[in-house]
Amino acid sequence: MQGDTLLIKSGGAAALTEWQHHFARLMPGLRVYGWDDPFVDARNVKYALVYQPDHGRLAHYPRLRLILSAAAGVDHILADPALPTDVPIVRMVTEETRERMSDFVTFAALAIVRDMPALVTAQRDGRWANDLTGRLARDTRVSVLGLGELGSAVAMRLRANGFQVNGWARTPRLLSDVNVFAGEAQLDALLTETDILVNLLPDTHATRGILGRKLFAQLPAGASLIQVGRGVHLDRQALLDALDSGRLRSAVVDVFDIEPLPPDDALRGHPKVLVTPHIASTVSYAARARQVADVLGAHLRGAPLPFVYDAARGY
Ligand code: NAP
Repeated sequence: MQGDTLLIKSGGAAALTEWQHHFARLMPGLRVYGWDDPFVDARNVKYALVYQPDHGRLAHYPRLRLILSAAAGVDHILADPALPTDVPIVRMVTEETRERMSDFVTFAALAIVRDMPALVTAQRDGRWANDLTGRLARDTRVSVLGLGELGSAVAMRLRANGFQVNGWARTPRLLSDVNVFAGEAQLDALLTETDILVNLLPDTHATRGILGRKLFAQLPAGASLIQVGRGVHLDRQALLDALDSGRLRSAVVDVFDIEPLPPDDALRGHPKVLVTPHIASTVSYAARARQVADVLGAHLRGAPLPFVYDAARGY
């Protein structure tokens, strides 16, 4: 540990000071350097905490033992064609990630049952829309695609708020008070039982583009979407068409294939859509530094590492 180097590319120069402040307290023996620091000795770099690392750079550290993603997804690391294949990649998952995502999806689901997009439009138009009385959470079926670290926490919180909750994962499991559907074969059955669809799948070959025309056509007419997974899951034109045809009632969309979403994008001004700028679960540096310290501690003890990306599964 003494003298081991952690190299950070996440949040730029201002954030580096904050990272260093947290690690000085959590792991005083660790040397913490910024990505472009000219004084870094490449031979001492044992750990890299990164978001969108420059392609080819991680291959330059001969003693690199762990790559830690500064974000929940790892697509921004896997995009590097020269990525060392023998170094484990650890996803960033904290209790705060689960809590923030649960807060956000609950907010979005309640906004949908209370017709928030239509109420915002009515307010803008100066209309007193007192016919928009909404529906009850307990009469609303929310289906969560992905029951992993975030999806399972979100499902529990939605239950606690009175919603009827379904979930979909690759493998079957029991989850208290949640109807679990598993695998491709049960997706159709889940969709027909859905008033609000929440996407919390990872980005894999099997899930890319899943929120498209075929899926929207399988939802009951008047269903809504909460998209908080990855931008690549969503066919934006298919969503616009489903909203304009009345097939879908509303959508809350937080993640996009192009970020920032261009100012003139049709989703931004759409009366049935709430757009948020990928903030559903942005976790504090303090919580992320604690998580990194826990992972490095486990690595130093030779203990199993949590949240390791599994290349065979693709997530
Ligand atoms: P995770 O722990 O890897 O869980 C993934 C879940 O998806 C698992 O339940 C898995 O099933 C299921 N799954 C994977 N492939 C599937 C398939 N082909 N068919 C059916 N189910 C499948 O992921 P997580 O940490 O919960 O993250 C979920 C998503 O949230 C990711 O896309 C992440 O990038 C995104 N995210 C967004 C924000 C934001 O601010 N918007 C913040 C953080 C994370 P099994 O359980 O059977 O393996």
